[in-house]
Amino acid sequence: MAHAQRHTGPARSVEEHTAEVSGLLAPLLARPAETVPVPDALGRVVAADVVSPVDLPLFRNSQMDGFAVDAATVAAVPVTLPIVATIPAGPTRPAPHVPGTAVRIMTGAALPDGAEAVVPVEDTEVSGDTVTILRPRTAGEFVRDRGSDVASGMLLVPNGTRLEPRHVSVLAAVGLPGVPVRTRPRVAVLTTGAELVDAGSTPAPGQIFDSNGPALAASLRANGADVVSVDRSSDDPDAFRNALHRATSRAELVITSGGVSMGDFEVVKDVLSGMGGRFGKVAMQPGGPQGVAVVDGVPVLTFPGNPVSTLVSFELFVRPLLRRAAGLPAIPTETVALDHALTSIPGKRQLLRGRRTTTGVGTVAGPGSHLVAAFAWADVLIDIPADTTALTAGDRVKVWPL
Ligand code: AMP
Ligand code: MG
Repeated sequence: MAHAQRHTGPARSVEEHTAEVSGLLAPLLARPAETVPVPDALGRVVAADVVSPVDLPLFRNSQMDGFAVDAATVAAVPVTLPIVATIPAGPTRPAPHVPGTAVRIMTGAALPDGAEAVVPVEDTEVSGDTVTILRPRTAGEFVRDRGSDVASGMLLVPNGTRLEPRHVSVLAAVGLPGVPVRTRPRVAVLTTGAELVDAGSTPAPGQIFDSNGPALAASLRANGADVVSVDRSSDDPDAFRNALHRATSRAELVITSGGVSMGDFEVVKDVLSGMGGRFGKVAMQPGGPQGVAVVDGVPVLTFPGNPVSTLVSFELFVRPLLRRAAGLPAIPTETVALDHALTSIPGKRQLLRGRRTTTGVGTVAGPGSHLVAAFAWADVLIDIPADTTALTAGDRVKVWPL
């Protein structure tokens, strides 16, 4: 049973595999909206144009700590005026302004009707119940008019915006309790391997730290997914099957790592082949062994276990579609000049780890798919087509920004 359905056909192209994955994940693209409280909306993508229900400022108020006056009275200075009231910020209904008087007023406090300007406290001298105005002011100075920032009905945040702190600020300022946002695709991560342990424990000989769990979860979150679980299974078929059903019970997409290549304990391939999964080689490096399945109605993508293979698989097959599903803008590929010559294996699309330079792009370390530190230094993947075997310095190459 275990090895009965091992796929041995010719390698498929990256484009063919991408097309199959895109078909499987197409249902994720029809995201409904939900309303979340504004304080919880950071990072979410708004699902409709958000307009203001109110004017901002809500009422005419002072921009400075100072004295509210009428313009005619302070046209020529110095002039000494009686201080007839004090208005702090807070709920008040100030009496109408009496020309020729001054009202002590704090920043943000409502201006009396008829007061036309605020003289900042720095430009005054107070003596008892009087204030001497030292600088002339004209109507409107240091006054914030109602609606001068936002008119009721004005567009605050356009549909499709990923909310930053400044957006949370304006939505809160107009008093909106909630904001409509795209729901995030619910994705489960399931890593496999008898050798894996968590950070914090001491690996026994033969054990390694599980990096694909955290890495896939981070990649998913960075691209708009709601990571519903990050689980791990041994290479035991029953353990994997149980973990898989746990994952499909919560997620709309499951991504597994490991257990899909040509070894003897390929639990992912063995179990999913028996459930209608399709496994085979994709003509790429890293990331060649790939599989897809549908379990409990939920699409499952199976990535190879080498950490670089796993993340490159994510970049190619999941990131573009996930970003669309989450309502995030695409990250376009770019074309830049190679800093140095390189060779590439015929028949395989290579995704080399590269780093931008002032003149173009160069590779970072070698192609080994276990080289996680080199990947961490990289900021692009250099995409070498399958039929290209040699490039010289200055040749233009396609890069995927990371
Ligand atoms: P596999 O695809 O299961 O044959 O794994 C290929 C290589 O990747 C092996 O060296 C594994 O130890 C390593 N590997 C598999 N899963 C992980 C993981 N979650 N974190 C780090 N390395 C892994
Ligand atoms: Mg393994």
